[in-house]
Amino acid sequence: MNKSLVSLFTARSCIVGLMSIFALTAGVARGQTQVEPDTALRMLNAQQQQFQRGVVKVSDNVFTAVGFHGANTSMIVGTDGVIIVDTLFGPASASNAAEAFRQHSDKPVKAIIYTHSHGDHTGGAGAFVSDERPDIYATETFGSAEGVNKAVNPVKQKRNVRQFGRKLSAAESTNRGVAPAGTIDRDRGEGFLPPTITVPSGGLKTTIAGVELEFHLAPGETDDALFVWLPKEKILFAGDNFYNSFPNLYAIRGTAYRDVLNWSETVAKMAALKPHAVVPGHTMPIRGRQAATTALEDYSEAIRSVYDQTVRGINAGKGPDQLAHEVKLPEHLKDKPYLIQFYGTVPHAVRAIYSGLLGWYDGNPTTLNPLEPRTKAKKMAELAGGTQALTAQMEAALAKQDYQWALELADHAKWLADADRELARKVKIAALRGLAAREYNAPDRNYYLSYANELETGQLSELWF
Ligand SMILES: [Zn+2]
Repeated sequence: MNKSLVSLFTARSCIVGLMSIFALTAGVARGQTQVEPDTALRMLNAQQQQFQRGVVKVSDNVFTAVGFHGANTSMIVGTDGVIIVDTLFGPASASNAAEAFRQHSDKPVKAIIYTHSHGDHTGGAGAFVSDERPDIYATETFGSAEGVNKAVNPVKQKRNVRQFGRKLSAAESTNRGVAPAGTIDRDRGEGFLPPTITVPSGGLKTTIAGVELEFHLAPGETDDALFVWLPKEKILFAGDNFYNSFPNLYAIRGTAYRDVLNWSETVAKMAALKPHAVVPGHTMPIRGRQAATTALEDYSEAIRSVYDQTVRGINAGKGPDQLAHEVKLPEHLKDKPYLIQFYGTVPHAVRAIYSGLLGWYDGNPTTLNPLEPRTKAKKMAELAGGTQALTAQMEAALAKQDYQWALELADHAKWLADADRELARKVKIAALRGLAAREYNAPDRNYYLSYANELETGQLSELWF
């Protein structure tokens, strides 16, 4: 591990220490990724170093460009050419990385490898090549990842903008957990080159430009993923099954179930190779045999633990709401720098595992046919002693910084014809901003802020869908 990474990790260990103290002294119920505003901001600023723009020399012949867009791109230098692993989002960002690579080698590109089909890894391929026609490697199922739920693209696009904070002001913007904010996105996918060589399901061993390579199928974040192993250099390119954050086992922009158990097993396979360096799909490479191997072992164990705890809870008859609060990362893993919940969160993962294994129904007959929201809101108002009393409770919750409860009461108030809906909307906006300020999980923070802005500028319907 290099010096700057050591100091980064030390700084972040202190921050994690602070975080636990604040969590203990907090007066109201808070989520697992909620801390005091100063701490949240300091943590997110520290995480920023994980995607500081620059080319990292991973070994004598391996270079990784970090921070040129959201994801990483790497160059492996061989005898008579280079191999590019992942190609960023579009030609603009990719050509900046290609230019930076040329400081280290100007040999022609012999091959391009896509670790998986997400646009932030595939859209800039054309920028790395001029006249040469490189072989382009991907798995047999390449492209299957996002195909299943295209029917709901209109809403997925809105949620994507919120998760990544694409429309936040500079003052509101921090980062995306494993990627910087403010990437160049106007040329999405314009440099995509289709795969020409399919990696069979059993994997592939080959030599390109004198470099020995192995391709291993790696279902996890997507089913169409692979990882690349250089047996001589002992360097592993993990794609998005590993990066420096608790993994995004579920994306709040809306995705089909990501097979969590497969993900854990894939990372265990990577760890078993005992790499001397692991190059993630996002964030800084981890160098050194022990550091890289331990990180992968811990990562696999963390995913497996969340899965096992959830499954045990399910079999004990617990529902997703309860389990999302109960399941935690094991004590010996929770403060590891690569497992802090900057991108994925444990509660979201628990809900994803629940619905992935059992569907939406929690097994409780009360929830088989619950009340329609408007009816429930009326009954909640009656219980509170009338709409005015419910409104007073909503305002009191906001004043006490009990933001989640304020949101839930605002959501009841919005259905009540005799409620001051404008007030409820204002309370919701303030509560979302209150939550956002305390949130160090970047997608949640970005989502809260984006939604608050949409409410404030009247972009959402009267009932805030
Ligand atoms: Zn990615």
